[in-house]
Amino acid sequence: MSKALFLDRDGTLILDKHYLADPAGVELIPDVATALTRARSLGYKLFILTNQSGIGRGMYSLDDVHRCNERMDELLALPQPIFDGICIAPESSDQPSLYRKPSPRYILEMITLHGLDPTQCWMVGDRDTDIAAGLNAKINAAAVCTGKHDAATWAALAAPGVRVFPGLLEFVATLR
Ligand SMILES: [Mg+2]
Repeated sequence: MSKALFLDRDGTLILDKHYLADPAGVELIPDVATALTRARSLGYKLFILTNQSGIGRGMYSLDDVHRCNERMDELLALPQPIFDGICIAPESSDQPSLYRKPSPRYILEMITLHGLDPTQCWMVGDRDTDIAAGLNAKINAAAVCTGKHDAATWAALAAPGVRVFPGLLEFVATLR
């Protein structure tokens, strides 16, 4: 069975600019390209699961998000395709939720589609909803401190068994 990482985008892969719509604003978080390279070399499939409520709120379009993702790919400068799948959840928080985290729906669909072993899958993100999506899908969850919360805040917030890392590279360094 395959193993995989489900990665949040804003605050985990790129700086969280809050309602980012302009590709010129995309900035990689340091060491993310190295982390993704190592994860791939260990055999992990890579998925992105990103909440983009700015679409549901009418602040920007799905195409804007695609353009930002293309810019992120360009900056990562890794062999393509880097990601095995990308889920952009467009719902605002007051709209009915299908894929919006903490929904586990995308993760569960990918587990079935790719024959993933849930015990070897991780959801990694900078917010409580990332962790909750992973736990709701009954996979592992890891928190990073490159976005919403610093280590002290996570220490108070993180659910039992959820490990907290300075960033994605430090998390990936623990994978085998
Ligand atoms: Mg985030």
